[in-house]
Amino acid sequence: MIFHENFDVIVVGGGHAGTEAALASARMGMNTLLLTHNMDTLGQMSCNPAIGGIGKGHLVKEIDALGGAMAQAIDKGGIQFRTLNSSKGPAVRATRAQADRALYKAAIQTTLQNQKNLKIFQQSCDDLIVEGERVLGVVTQMGLRFSAPSVVLTVGTFLGGQIHIGLENYKGGRAGDPPSIALADRLRELPFRVDRLKTGTPPRIDARTVDFSKMQEQPGDTPTPVFSFMGKQSDHPQQIPCYITYTNEKTHEVIRNNLHRSPMYSGVIEGIGPRYCPSIEDKIVRFADKDKHQIFVEPEGLTSYELYPNGISTSLPFDVQLEIVQSITGFEQAHICRPGYAIEYDFFDPRDLKQSLETKFINGLFFAGQINGTTGYEEAGAQGLIAGMNAALQVQGKEPWTPRRDEAYVGVLIDDLATLGTKEPYRMFTSRAEYRLLLREDNADIRLTEKGRELGLIDDARWQAFNEKMDVIAKESQRLKETWIHKDHAQVDKVNALLKTPLTREASLEDLIRRPEIRYNDLMAITGLASEFDNQAALEQVEIHTKYAGYIARQQDEINKQLRHEQTVLPKDFDYSTVSGLSNEVVAKLTDARPDTIGQASRISGITPAAISLLLVYLKKQG
Ligand code: FAD
Repeated sequence: MIFHENFDVIVVGGGHAGTEAALASARMGMNTLLLTHNMDTLGQMSCNPAIGGIGKGHLVKEIDALGGAMAQAIDKGGIQFRTLNSSKGPAVRATRAQADRALYKAAIQTTLQNQKNLKIFQQSCDDLIVEGERVLGVVTQMGLRFSAPSVVLTVGTFLGGQIHIGLENYKGGRAGDPPSIALADRLRELPFRVDRLKTGTPPRIDARTVDFSKMQEQPGDTPTPVFSFMGKQSDHPQQIPCYITYTNEKTHEVIRNNLHRSPMYSGVIEGIGPRYCPSIEDKIVRFADKDKHQIFVEPEGLTSYELYPNGISTSLPFDVQLEIVQSITGFEQAHICRPGYAIEYDFFDPRDLKQSLETKFINGLFFAGQINGTTGYEEAGAQGLIAGMNAALQVQGKEPWTPRRDEAYVGVLIDDLATLGTKEPYRMFTSRAEYRLLLREDNADIRLTEKGRELGLIDDARWQAFNEKMDVIAKESQRLKETWIHKDHAQVDKVNALLKTPLTREASLEDLIRRPEIRYNDLMAITGLASEFDNQAALEQVEIHTKYAGYIARQQDEINKQLRHEQTVLPKDFDYSTVSGLSNEVVAKLTDARPDTIGQASRISGITPAAISLLLVYLKKQG
C-alpha cells in the first residue's frame, strides 16, 4: 500500500522560518505538518548564538506581538541581555540577547511539541507534487506522500548547499547537516528566477584555552531587558558576561599573505556574501587602512566551553584560521574546536513572490526565510510567521494579510523583497523603514496584537494582558490631561526646578511631559502625583506617546497620503510601453518588477516621481 496522509498546511524545514510558519498555521486551527530533515535540529542557530539587535530586535517583538515563539524562547535561553542605543530616541532602541544555544533550542522544541494541530515528521522533502499551476503536496526521500493545498518551503541555506574551507569544498546544508539536492533540482525546473548567495561563520574556540584577563569584560544590562510581552525577568537563566578583543597588524598580515588560498578571492565562490556581516578577509581587503577590528567574544552557553568570536567569520584554510586566531590578544594559546567555513546556496528571486509570500507561478506554494535571499534568524522567523499565516488563510478561503510598511518592520522586509528583490543577503536595519517613529520595539504589541487576535494567532491569556495594558494607557493618558499644576500650587516650585523656563500659567501633566527636559517618572516623583497603576510598560507608552505626539501626527499625515498610492492598483498584464513619456529604462524596470500598486512602483530604484505622475495620468484616462 502506498502511504499517503492529508494535511491543510505542510511546512518544509524546521529552522527559524519553519518553526514560526508551522506554529502560526497550527494556532489558526489548521491541521499542520512540519517536515524536517532532523527533529534534533529544530530551533538550531546555524551561526551566531544571539537574537535581536538593531532592526532585528524590532522584528522579534513583532513576531511576539503576533503570538510567535522567538521572543519567549530567547527569554528562556538568553544569558546576556542588552538594550542597544539606550541613550538614543525610542525609535532606534533595540534589545539584543546572547543565547545559550541548548536552552534556546529546548524552548523552541517544547513549544513545537506542545502545539495543538501540529505533527512533526523527520524526513527529507525531495519533491513537490504540482499539477498545472497548483501545489498539491510533497514527496519525501522514502517516497512517502503528504498532501495539502498549501505548502510553505523554509529550507534555509540547504538548497544545493556547498561548504568551503580554503580551496576544499563539499556538499552540505550547514556543518554536520546534509544539503537539499533533489529538492533544489526540482525547484530549478519550476519557472522561478534562481541565483546563488553565500554566508560564513567563524571558527569556535575552547574557552579553557583563552586568557580573559587580557580582554575587556562586557556585562549585560541590569535590570535585564525582557523580549516577550508575556516574558518576565524570572524567565531568564543565569547571566554571564561577553568579552571584547581586537585583531592587530599581525592578524592582518597573516590574512594578506594567504588571500590566494581563500575560496572567495581565488574565484571558487561565486555567490555574494552579506555586506554587513563580512568575513575577516573581506574586512582586511575592503578597509585596508584600519589597523584593528573589534571581536566580541561570546559564550555559546552556560554548560558549554565553546566561544563564538563574533567578527572573524572566515573560509580561509584551517591552518590559516589557527594562525589568525592565535595572533589575537587573549587567544595566543587558543584551541579551535570547530573550523570556520563559508556556504553557498540557491535562493529564489523574491520578486517572484506576492506580498503574502505565496509564489506568483504556483498557487498554494509559499517561500519564507533564507530561501528568499535574506540572512538572519529574525528575518527568517518574521517571514515564516507571515507565510504560515497566509497559507492558513488561503485554506480557510480568506483574503491574505501582510502588514504594510507603516504598520511593521515585517511589512518593510516583505515589501522590500517582493518589490525590489535583492542581490546580496538582505538584513533588517531601522534605516530601511520610512516611518521609524511609529515602528518602535516598545509599541509592537499595540501595532499588531489586535490583528493577531482577529487572525486567531493570540491566545486568551495574552489577549487579556494586552487589554489590561491598553486600559491603563487610556486611563493614565486621560489623567495626565485632567491633572493641573496651578501657578500658585504648592508643587509649582518643585516642578519649576525641573524646567528650563518656569511656568507662567497653569499647566496639565500632559503639557509638562511634552517638555523635552521632563521625564515622566521624575515628574511623578517630585509632585507626588504617581499613577495608581504599576504597569511600567503602559506608563512608558503614555510618556512616549505624549512626548512625540506632534511628530507622530506628522508621520501619520504622510502615511495617509502614501496610502492613496498603495490603493491604486496596477493591472497584472499592464503594458508599460504604451504609456507615453516613460523612458525605455523605466519601462524595462517596471516590466521586470511587475509592481501590484503605484506605491510599490514608486519604491523601485530609478522610478522617478515624474514616471509615477505619468502612470497616474494614464490610469486616470483609462478610467
Ligand atoms: P535554516 O535555519 O537554515 O533552517 C532550514 C531548515 O530546513 C533546517 O532545519 C533543515 O534541516 C531543513 N531542511 C532543508 N532542506 C530540507 C528538505 N529538503 N527537507 C526537509 N527539511 C529540510 N545569519 C546572520 O544573520 N548573520 C550571519 O553572519 C550568518 N552566518 C551564517 C553562516 C552560516 C555558515 C550559516 C549556515 C548561516 C548563517 N546565517 C547568518 C544565517 C542564519 O542561520 C539563517 O539566516 C537562518 O537560520 C535562516 O533561517 P531559515 O529558517 O530560513 O533556515
